[in-house]
Amino acid sequence: MRNLSDQVNPSRVRRLNRSAGKEGPVIYWMSRDQRASSNWALQFALETAERGGTFVVVAFCLAPEFLGAAFRQYHFMIEGLKEVEQSLAEKNIPFYLQAGNPVERLPELIRQLRAGTMVCEFDPLRIRKAWKNGIVKNADVAIYEVDAHNMVPCLEASDRQEYSARTFRKKLGKKLGGFIERYPGSEGQKKAAADLADTVDWNRIESRLEVDRAVPAVEWLKPGTGEGLKTLARFLENGLTGYARQSNNPNGEARSDLSPYLHFGQVSAADVFHEVSLADVPEEDKEAFLEELLVRRELSDNFCFYNSHYDSVKGFPDWAGATLKAHEGDPRPYVYTRSQLESGDTHDELWNAAQLEMLKTGKMHGYIRMYWAKKILEWSRTPARALQTAVYLNDRYELDGRDPNGYTGIAWSIGGVHDRAWKERGVFGKVRYMSYAGCGRKFDIDKYVSRVQNM
Ligand SMILES: Cc1cc2nc3c(=O)[nH]c(=O)nc-3n(C[C@H](O)[C@H](O)[C@H](O)COP(=O)(O)OP(=O)(O)OC[C@H]3O[C@@H](n4cnc5c(N)ncnc54)[C@H](O)[C@@H]3O)c2cc1C
Repeated sequence: MRNLSDQVNPSRVRRLNRSAGKEGPVIYWMSRDQRASSNWALQFALETAERGGTFVVVAFCLAPEFLGAAFRQYHFMIEGLKEVEQSLAEKNIPFYLQAGNPVERLPELIRQLRAGTMVCEFDPLRIRKAWKNGIVKNADVAIYEVDAHNMVPCLEASDRQEYSARTFRKKLGKKLGGFIERYPGSEGQKKAAADLADTVDWNRIESRLEVDRAVPAVEWLKPGTGEGLKTLARFLENGLTGYARQSNNPNGEARSDLSPYLHFGQVSAADVFHEVSLADVPEEDKEAFLEELLVRRELSDNFCFYNSHYDSVKGFPDWAGATLKAHEGDPRPYVYTRSQLESGDTHDELWNAAQLEMLKTGKMHGYIRMYWAKKILEWSRTPARALQTAVYLNDRYELDGRDPNGYTGIAWSIGGVHDRAWKERGVFGKVRYMSYAGCGRKFDIDKYVSRVQNM
């Protein structure tokens, strides 16, 4: 066992500014990785504090608005944060909930606590990059960024936007061995700091949220790290065997339902990786699952980090942009408005059921998500409008929305990102097409539709 002070692989860590580290506590700004265990950013903060003879406090900034998130997603996050506060208290680590814009609130907290160092997390999305840049300008302390979300840190896996899963898989495979270590587990900090922050008044926080309450919380999936780990255990027991054959079937058990926990960082992907690797199931099922969890998920961070147009048609590869442009004037068999789509009011019962599944449960099956997005392209006046509509609906209703996986999945479906050119046809040009009949060959559509209608 290594000392507390040398557990974090230095390749996970990046210095964001030149300010010298000062004496004073270490603030870990938790944002994307909302968990008190299996968290390399927290571990790095603890190590830094131990070396400096000081202590760590964790701060979370609750922004009043975040990329169109509604009550559903805020509720899931807040319930998870309550557990984080408790777990941190058990480790003698104070938790500060700051309401407002991080660019203002964090430098204020740094001044208030006379902090010497700040640790934040790697995140490929523009809004979080902008927040970090703002904090770097406003705060005169040493600031470090730790990739606590990816098994292989995004910047280490590749130094460029990858062309496809094939090119990325190769690079990831070469690096994975260097990042396979298990999280050491920590008892927390000895230096007394537990009473520094007031206990958060969560009821007040939740009642004051100014978010769209028309999208209610869901009951079927309970938030938090503990519930996420139970969800993982259920999947290992009932869903992983057969995953390779069944993952295209929305009527089957082959879905882990882990994406909301992974999105909010309530569960660490590395923990999932290790549990799946140890599971006593056929190798082909493990491989198929780890392809999604590792290759596809980490490829999404790669796409969003290196392509700042990840949610716009400008982010599509040249061949796809050109073919979609050439077919922009093609007659559409149907054109629907955003509100028709939002209420699941189209001629296609499968598409309507998919939309309804998302409205009701906050989670659409992965295979259907591709069909869903491709039909939005087919039924919109332009690819740009289709992309906007898909992002809006995905981010408003999916529990796991506003995630690099979402922007990449939509860009794959509508804009050929990470895909290749296919046979040319109307509207889609050379972008891969999916049909109702094709879905019918993969699974029982009637069964899916009636299951969703009875939810
Ligand atoms: C149009 C479209 C929109 C999508 N929107 C989102 C989104 O907003 N948030 C989100 O997390 N995922 C999104 N995905 C990716 C994928 O569909 C979901 O991650 C998956 O359905 C989540 O369910 P699960 O956890 O039960 O998946 P499982 O099949 O159990 O997969 C396990 C994990 O692997 C990862 N994964 C699985 N499929 C993919 C994929 N295609 N790309 C990247 N990672 C993947 C996810 O982290 C997932 O939780 C989208 C895909 C498409 C095509």
